Amino acid sequence: MPDNIHRRKIVVNGVVQGVGFRPFVYNLARRYGLAGLVANYSAGVKIEVEGSAPVLERFEKSLQEELPAQALLIDYRSEDVPTVGAQDFVIDLSEVSGKAATLVSPDLALCSDCLVELFDSVDRRYHYPFINCTNCGPRYSIVTGIPYDRAATAMHHFTMCAECQREYRDPTNRRFHAQPNACPVCGPQISLCAGGGGTIAKGPQAVLKAAGLLAEGRILAIKGLGGFHLAVDAGNEDAVCLLRDRKVREEKPLAVMVADLDKARQLCVLEQAEAEVLTSVAAPILLAPACSFSDNGLASSVAPGLARLGIMLAYTPLHHLLLREFAGPLVMTSGNLSEEPICIDNNEALARLAGIADYFLIHDREIYMRSDDSVVVEMAGKIRPLRRGRGYVPRPVQLAADGPQVLAVGGELKNTVCLLKGDQAFPSQHLGDIKNLGAYGFFQETIVHLQKIFEAEPQLVVHDLHPAYLSTRWAREEQGLPVLAVQHHHAHLASCLAENKIEGPVIGIILDGTGYGPDGTIWGGEILTGDYSGFRRHGCLEPMPLPGGDAAVKAPWRTALAYLDMAYDESGPVLPFLAEHNYEPVREMIKHGLNCPLTSSCGRLFDAVAALCGGRQVIAYEGQAAIELMETAGQEIGEPYHWDILENGDIFHLGVRGLIRQVTAEVMAGATRQSISRRFHRTLVEMLAGAAERVRAGSAINTVVLSGGVFNNYLLLEGLVGLLEVKGFEVLTHSQLPAGDGCLSLGQAMIGRQYLMAS
Ligand code: ZN
Ligand code: ZN
Ligand code: FE
Repeated sequence: MPDNIHRRKIVVNGVVQGVGFRPFVYNLARRYGLAGLVANYSAGVKIEVEGSAPVLERFEKSLQEELPAQALLIDYRSEDVPTVGAQDFVIDLSEVSGKAATLVSPDLALCSDCLVELFDSVDRRYHYPFINCTNCGPRYSIVTGIPYDRAATAMHHFTMCAECQREYRDPTNRRFHAQPNACPVCGPQISLCAGGGGTIAKGPQAVLKAAGLLAEGRILAIKGLGGFHLAVDAGNEDAVCLLRDRKVREEKPLAVMVADLDKARQLCVLEQAEAEVLTSVAAPILLAPACSFSDNGLASSVAPGLARLGIMLAYTPLHHLLLREFAGPLVMTSGNLSEEPICIDNNEALARLAGIADYFLIHDREIYMRSDDSVVVEMAGKIRPLRRGRGYVPRPVQLAADGPQVLAVGGELKNTVCLLKGDQAFPSQHLGDIKNLGAYGFFQETIVHLQKIFEAEPQLVVHDLHPAYLSTRWAREEQGLPVLAVQHHHAHLASCLAENKIEGPVIGIILDGTGYGPDGTIWGGEILTGDYSGFRRHGCLEPMPLPGGDAAVKAPWRTALAYLDMAYDESGPVLPFLAEHNYEPVREMIKHGLNCPLTSSCGRLFDAVAALCGGRQVIAYEGQAAIELMETAGQEIGEPYHWDILENGDIFHLGVRGLIRQVTAEVMAGATRQSISRRFHRTLVEMLAGAAERVRAGSAINTVVLSGGVFNNYLLLEGLVGLLEVKGFEVLTHSQLPAGDGCLSLGQAMIGRQYLMAS
């Protein structure tokens, strides 16, 4: 053996199965003329290569730089081992049993190679809606267990034909070990059904007919990757309105799907990063500024009253086929009734969506794990998720350290659950409002599924402090495991710490709608310091009454009246917005403190200001008043109002009464809503930065984390990040998980792990 020949053993883990990793290594080794092997191995993928040192270096460099787009290396180890005189490079197919530490890949949008074949009339998969390869296709949604192998997927009852087998076994083929590999001869088929379930057409005819029905303004339920969509012509006002009526979703904006980036640019103004995320394998819905609603050809009821549009590109072959036939944009919204989980099963869809869809475009590849489309938005220089689901889940959040296994069950609205295993956290997809019975079932099935595919055995279950949340009850009553209760805003703080891989302590500015406070009030505008082991509340928004509790959340004018009356010590001036309401009984409630829980919620402050200045009085979806107020302001920064921070015993209060009085004076002076909104946002930014400075002065902590659903407001996020940085703070934000309650479970889990490690 010549001296200059070395054998190097490289062990990698992460997302390395189902993403074309072994063929990639095989082809790379052949390119460099190296001998050796690549094999799946219990903790990931093992590579051994033999050659001269400089070539091995180049190989390793290429290995890391040219990684298949969907692969994710989490750990990479390389060491020299004795040479064995290997002559060629092979893929070692011996299956290694034992604990599978490799990760299941998220579902992947159709790749460009498969797209070309889909529309190539001589290709054997021409117009076949289930074309896929190792770089694309279903993954998480079809996995029933581990290891990730065809037998453990929804493809297990389709037997590959000889031609598909050949591709599957050929290491140089793009479909080498592509578990969902299929063709028109051996794979799943689509059919178009009428509402009663009777088949109207199959195969290519089904697509043609479906496109024709869409053009006629019909509503179609279409089986996708993570669940059913409801689809309708986005340019047909009557059809969109009919969908809204039937779906009981009066005003919430609907997402639109188009065939490609060029079509997307006809509807939205897209920056580079936005175009990249739209065309990424995750293929999320992107919230982007609409070009102009007046002449973009979209029905005005797609996203009424909003300047931004939720847009996504076709991501399954079926979408591409449909959008080739039906050339215009399609509304594609989750196939469910409001608040229920998305449908995944054909019979379930036919039953549950019977009152909504006129026709059903279904197929016989089952979906095992439902996930809604992810929603992302660009804010403060980063693409950030508003809802994390299909395309991202089950990718882990990489943690700074190892520790015991923990399950956290999140909050209630926009719920997620999270598993900690080793140095990775696995947050679930968005599960919705688990007060809904169907969503509660989805919550339970997801916990079982995640534990199974990650072979997790948590030692502790962490839940919210709120005793009445269903997630709390589930954790306490049904698990037989030790439990830990965590305060909502502490969990937000810890989640942002974990995402940014730091230990703390930090200052936390946590702004949201509702979280159970240990003092029995509703928290939601909190200035904390803390880390995984605990927190202290330094200040909050001045607590105000919420007349009727939940009734006020749905009717911002009630909140506005309460804030107005508090600001003027009993009864404030009768502003124009009150004219349209029967407000006297509510005023009596406020006066006598009847059913008026106190809240420091920032979400409610937004509601109050929005309603006071004549904006949204009653909401049709969560956050509507605040979103509209933000959009009213546009991009410009206003002159702040005077603000104050008041001592209140052990903590300070960010003055709300003074702010409301100034807004009131402006309304009476006839200021525009646009101007009030700008000034209000700026005041909040300056007041919060002032609070952070005050805490820094007393604690010498210079790092601030921002968390809570209010930070989905780009004016506030960008304004506050900018000002805090000017003041010398290090500012950390969410970019892997939503800032809203979707991030709670990660924070809970980290606090739980710390608790286990300390006890
Ligand atoms: Zn492909
Ligand atoms: Zn086949
Ligand atoms: Fe929250």
